[in-house]
Amino acid sequence: MKKALSIDIGGTKIYAAHVNKTGEIVSDIEKHHTPKTSEEIIEKLKEIISNHENKVEFSAISTAGGVNKENTKVICSTANLPFGYPKTNFNSLSNKPVFVENDANCAAWAEYKIGSAKGYDNNITLTLGTGVGGGIIVDGKLLKGKSGVAGEMHFKMSMDKKRKCTCGAYDCFEIYASGNGLRITGIELTGNKDITTYDIIEGVDKGDNTMLRVYNIWQNYIIAGLVGLADIFDPDCIVLSGSMGKFCDVEYMQELVNDDIVTLPTKILHATSGNYAGMIGAALLGFEKF
Ligand SMILES: [Zn+2]
Repeated sequence: MKKALSIDIGGTKIYAAHVNKTGEIVSDIEKHHTPKTSEEIIEKLKEIISNHENKVEFSAISTAGGVNKENTKVICSTANLPFGYPKTNFNSLSNKPVFVENDANCAAWAEYKIGSAKGYDNNITLTLGTGVGGGIIVDGKLLKGKSGVAGEMHFKMSMDKKRKCTCGAYDCFEIYASGNGLRITGIELTGNKDITTYDIIEGVDKGDNTMLRVYNIWQNYIIAGLVGLADIFDPDCIVLSGSMGKFCDVEYMQELVNDDIVTLPTKILHATSGNYAGMIGAALLGFEKF
């Protein structure tokens, strides 16, 4: 069966493995530390690709940042991308085709093809981690928008300029719904500037009332965003993925979202495509193209 070399560039680790057309990882998974500068990241990618390109049809890369419609370049940068990285044409890294896509879009495609959203042609995946990413699938196609970067979760939750987001604007969904958003809510309620997301989750597990309040406020922010997304896109389901997604009470969220929307009921689900969703989704999207 045909296979791709799939590479997931994370903030601290780069993973690489061979993925076949059905989304199975069919090799060992290589793990590398993510270098600090864009030049070093590009060098590392070249090295990984040159070791594998003779054994695969193409390379697929899952990365932070918004990727163009041609899937060759990062065209809009986020706070966690090193300077200069967006200028790279990824096709120059290999003699075979290279396919690039935003990491949340890759995660969404993995959920659609092999995870919780399988069989649902209209669905949304939110990657809730330090930040928030989004991938939107409409009528079985990944929504890319006019430039390729649709699905950014920076719509406003308030006009009061309460919280500055990583994108530079105020009060985006991301700065309320992310792990960072949970931490900021924790600081606001406790006055403890050193509180971590881990402290809050641990407090919730122990039944600490203040931490439960922090957690409930955070979930309500997410619910508010989900209501908007559900009304606009009328999805079969919204999947919550990422390191913070597993802490969401999806049954509670589904009930409250469906109380508030004007469209027909939607499902709120946990992700099931696992830790390597980015790699799997990038490869499966690449197979749609090559
Ligand atoms: Zn923002």
